[in-house]
Amino acid sequence: MTGLSDAQAGAAACSDCDAARRGELAAALVRLRERITAACRAANRNPAEVRLLPVTKTFPARDVALLVDLGLLDAAEARDSEATAKVAEVNALRPAVQVRWHMVGRLQRNKTRSVARWAVQVQSVDSPRLVQALDRAASLAREAGDRQAPLSVLVQASLDGDPRRGGCPLTELDALADQVAAAPSLQLHGVMAVAPLGCPPEAAFAELRKAAARLRNAHPSAVELSAGMSADLEQAIAYGSTCVRVGTALLGSRPLTSK
Ligand SMILES: *Cc1c(COP(=O)(O)O)cnc(C)c1O
Repeated sequence: MTGLSDAQAGAAACSDCDAARRGELAAALVRLRERITAACRAANRNPAEVRLLPVTKTFPARDVALLVDLGLLDAAEARDSEATAKVAEVNALRPAVQVRWHMVGRLQRNKTRSVARWAVQVQSVDSPRLVQALDRAASLAREAGDRQAPLSVLVQASLDGDPRRGGCPLTELDALADQVAAAPSLQLHGVMAVAPLGCPPEAAFAELRKAAARLRNAHPSAVELSAGMSADLEQAIAYGSTCVRVGTALLGSRPLTSK
């Protein structure tokens, strides 16, 4: 018998697993930074041009808190309901820190009111109706004092023509970007895409780079090209990515049941 109450024993065990998890995440972060640096070197780019956006979907708030301790102050989520709960938990775990939350998943219009309260940026904006709903939601959130800044937006390009995977067809992307740029409570910051499944990503990333250059020409604020995930961040960096969205290579594999 240790003489500890159950609660004390639980807290002690918990700080042990926190330490183990912190070590795991720190090691994964070192490997990831090495991959990003090597990819930048190979592409003749400055690593400071590529930001790392941890995708924390399906992982607990405690992991986000540990990433904060490692200096990562951005996190991305793919579902509003999961994010809403996690944002509150992370606020409780690290009250002194303001994590910058990003939405990268498919977004329904009836969730825009909620997303506008917690997200600094939505990367998955892919239709005119969604732009309209988000602009209204961001404006209401500002009136209610739930947010100060306009909502940063990346338009999501479809690189595979599969509407179920989200994204706007490349032929309609410029018009969508114009609409975001004209929305009073939104700010256009660039373009996001996911590589097609089941084929090498280079050709798709080359198309995406062209689309991103067009957007930058039309809108000087549209500097961001969000591309590359755990499996293809090297190729994305070779084609100009400024933001790699990484889940499994940082946090480990997700349960198969998640989306
Ligand atoms: C889940 C997700 C990621 C991260 O994917 P990994 O392969 O785990 O790195 C990136 N982008 C989007 C849009 C996602 O939904």
